[in-house]
Amino acid sequence: MKDDPSISINEIFYSIQGEAKNSGKPTVFIRTAGCPFDCSYCDTEYAFTEGKQTSVSNIINKIENYKTKYITVTGGEPLVQKNINILFNKLLENKYYVSLETSGLVDISSIPKNVEIVMDIKTPSSNESDKNIIENLKIIKLTDVIKFVIETKDDYEWSKNIIFNNSLTNHPNIYFSPVHDKLEPSLIASWILEDSLNVTLQLQIHKYIWGDVRGR
Ligand code: SF4
Repeated sequence: MKDDPSISINEIFYSIQGEAKNSGKPTVFIRTAGCPFDCSYCDTEYAFTEGKQTSVSNIINKIENYKTKYITVTGGEPLVQKNINILFNKLLENKYYVSLETSGLVDISSIPKNVEIVMDIKTPSSNESDKNIIENLKIIKLTDVIKFVIETKDDYEWSKNIIFNNSLTNHPNIYFSPVHDKLEPSLIASWILEDSLNVTLQLQIHKYIWGDVRGR
């Protein structure tokens, strides 16, 4: 329908937000399908091809069944969906608190300002770090979140350099997240403490509650 644009949706589910500023809050997740990238630690490869075109009004109808105002749009890579801003604006109109999880590999300049962006800067272990759009770091808001997924000490040192080289040392929401089951949380905690780094250590709490399972 012309005035009811659609988006390719992989799944919509209700769970506990496991990451970033709203960690622990009951949240509806809207997972879009498709991603043109190939990160080594990707845990949502099933979303690359399993998508169903779903109208924005049907998405809104579906999430109205849940009694939370917290919505996270995730992927895949949501920003490859051409109608994604229509969905954001509709969610904001309906007074939802909207966060977007994006890869840092796509331009964020056109996202409505009331959407909280959680941007993942790809570290070398992802094998996609050469595609980071560094200009995104100049326009990301202080209320947004910049996340680094860290697998090795090299990733950690690389991430520190990105912070220092892009004047982000005072950004209040920089999260370092160890790759689950690959880097011991106590090890990265000791590096952060040794360096007195102004970052937040983030563990993906949904994986501690339910394990690494789909739809959680
Ligand atoms: S950008 Fe995200 S969805 Fe795409 S391959 Fe990387 S981790 Fe997976």
